[in-house]
Amino acid sequence: MKVAVLAGDGIGTEIVAEAVKVLKALDLKMEMESALVGGVAYDAHGHPLPPATLALAKAADAVLFGAVGDWKYDKLERQFRPEQAILGLRKELGLFANFRPAICYEELVGASSLKPELISGLDILIIRELTGDIYFGTPRGRRVATDGHFPGAEEAFDTMRYSRPEIERIGHVAFQAAQKRSKRVTSVDKNNVLETSQLWKDVMVEVAKQYPDVALDHMLVDNAAMQLVKEPKKFDVLVTGNMFGDILSDEASMLTGSIGMLPSASLNSKNQGLYEPSHGSAPDIAGRGIANPLATILSAAMMLRFSLNQAASAERIETAVKAVLAKGLRTADIYGKGGAGMTKVSTREMGDAVVAALAN
Ligand code: NAD
Repeated sequence: MKVAVLAGDGIGTEIVAEAVKVLKALDLKMEMESALVGGVAYDAHGHPLPPATLALAKAADAVLFGAVGDWKYDKLERQFRPEQAILGLRKELGLFANFRPAICYEELVGASSLKPELISGLDILIIRELTGDIYFGTPRGRRVATDGHFPGAEEAFDTMRYSRPEIERIGHVAFQAAQKRSKRVTSVDKNNVLETSQLWKDVMVEVAKQYPDVALDHMLVDNAAMQLVKEPKKFDVLVTGNMFGDILSDEASMLTGSIGMLPSASLNSKNQGLYEPSHGSAPDIAGRGIANPLATILSAAMMLRFSLNQAASAERIETAVKAVLAKGLRTADIYGKGGAGMTKVSTREMGDAVVAALAN
């Protein structure tokens, strides 16, 4: 098993170090090799995704990714900004299917801003198409300026596009995931105004015919945003395009209390995957040792299950995380919510606690 470890910027290095520690504690036959990505790669090599980093990722069975980005790179031309590294990896590795589970741990019910009865037992799987849509359309209409900014632009537009095969393949992923769960898929779009969304809906209906055991319903994205906070448990598998999925999955992540708890997996057709927490590089808390590493540790568990065929080890990590939460250990983002008798711990202490719980 070969894993490329790309920690990136900000809290990326802190949280990935803890996930690596947990993986090493499992004592599996796994090679891990690190490389620079994001802003630190731009500083060292003049590009956020240097060729050597991309080659390492391509040769690996899976990529364990931290986060990229910092406000200090905002003035760079877009192609050199740290966030381009993650878009480049998605495109180059063909990572079209993004899985973002939003699970509410019973111990953290009080950490959500919603009433406990609305989120207790919550277990949603958001499947976001990741390599099409407006993020990969052609940006147009801007007057190019040498410093990468367009202060005098009169108009700008980005092209939203989807093709039938792109929608079909993410549809299959969603229906197959639903077959292993409660056999319900909600497809989210904006077909009342967008042609791409009409195609999305039509193709989903066609794909659904191949899965008669799965019930499909459709929801407009504005309504879905509302229903996620009104009655989140009515969803099971939610499938949507790149931009709507970006927004809705962050919304869903907050249902569970902290974005620091949520893992994600991005897979290609060969089950090669990139595993990362749902959050960003959190420059506001970087270097302080207070970031929550659990989203990254749980992403490592998803990596073991989806790309490395090590379901038993994945389960060991997930059980260890539950045990640590049940013991009352909390990083700052989840501390003070959800009951008395909790102990505030640092990033490193949380990682150590998960390793200790693995042994039990
Ligand atoms: P963010 O997710 O980094 O942070 C949002 C808020 O959540 C902050 O208050 C932060 O302190 C908190 N937070 C995030 N992760 C946490 C953790 N593990 N533990 C505790 N608190 C946590 O989003 P942002 O501030 O909008 O963006 C910061 C940078 O990250 C930007 O440069 C952005 O482009 C980048 N970003 C990168 C990715 C990625 O690498 N895939 C994703 C999203 C944002």
